[in-house]
Amino acid sequence: MNQAYTRCTDGDKPASAEPPQNRPTPSAILVRGMPQILHGAPVQAKILQDLKPRIQRLDRPPGLAVVLVGHDPASQIYVRSKIKACRELGIHSDSHELPANVTTEELLTLVHVLNERPGIDGILVQMPLPKHVDSRRVLEAVAADKDADGFHPTNVGYLVAGRPAPRSCTPAGIIELLKFYEIQIAGRNAVVLGRSDIVGKPMALMLLHENATVTICHSKTENLPEMCRRADLLVAAIGRAAFVTADFISPGATVIDVGINRITDPAEAARLGRAEEYAIKGKVVVGDVHPVDVVHAAGSYTPVPGGVGPLTIAMLMSNTVELAERHLETASHLESPKGAR
Ligand code: NDP
Repeated sequence: MNQAYTRCTDGDKPASAEPPQNRPTPSAILVRGMPQILHGAPVQAKILQDLKPRIQRLDRPPGLAVVLVGHDPASQIYVRSKIKACRELGIHSDSHELPANVTTEELLTLVHVLNERPGIDGILVQMPLPKHVDSRRVLEAVAADKDADGFHPTNVGYLVAGRPAPRSCTPAGIIELLKFYEIQIAGRNAVVLGRSDIVGKPMALMLLHENATVTICHSKTENLPEMCRRADLLVAAIGRAAFVTADFISPGATVIDVGINRITDPAEAARLGRAEEYAIKGKVVVGDVHPVDVVHAAGSYTPVPGGVGPLTIAMLMSNTVELAERHLETASHLESPKGAR
């Protein structure tokens, strides 16, 4: 159980044992002591700060090529944020915007050009791609040594083997967050809810490498709340708004919420305790974890927004710098006369 769990409980009953009408209201929780909120911003700031001297030591700026297909507003926002992060750090970014009707072959041609382009250390193809495009072929066409997202099968293989390689950004950021807040991973029961290639599976592997005892749950898992309640460390990555309620959370557990779900129904926003925010913005973003229940049940948790979100871009920058370091190191070895080093 997390050391930061200072909540004074009435008999330490699991949250699920209390009928809803007996659950403490958020104001009652304030009186009893709040769980630790694991904000992403200070972790992001530290990751980026640590990259600056590494970038300054390089002979040229690291380069990231970003490929955006179509006009999906969310993808456009993500790409803009990534380019802004590059600019602020002194990473060269090369943006390629293609129409929604681009073919798989045209995308592959662009990826091959970028694979060969000197000065480009990392390539990112913003997902999702339009349905008619073969996303897998495109992702696998990115050279493994320019795979800024850590999605290439070679790099996934390295992750399985525990060898250094670009790692999928969101789970890698979660490991950084847990370390930043000194949350114990080794020896704890970790449950990863979701088994996607970009979050759930790499998350489970990274937790395993940190010596957690890992269980992966998915849509076919039976007794899901019970399985999740076994977790000291629960990572929810399923893309279902507020799906993880109090009866999924062991009292005092650390809960990491990866989900990003936009709520546009005012009644739903009110049910999730976000009525005021909805009244101002006309929409709210919630995670996969119920935002009120987590405060009641968890010992520490990442908020949505403001938890995991900021870490994904920070880890993209980290992967890009690491790739640039390797490229420049290889180039200097090739240039040096034999034995001169
Ligand atoms: P996917 O849709 O690729 O995968 C969802 C996973 O959740 C699948 O493994 C699926 O199981 C499982 N799942 C879906 N419904 C249920 C259910 N009712 N019960 C149990 N398991 C279920 O999603 P991603 O992994 O790409 O993303 C998950 C969430 O994280 C999304 O909200 C996404 O927006 C967010 N995200 C946030 C990021 C960030 O930077 N903060 C980055 C990436 C994602 P099955 O395999 O059996 O179908």
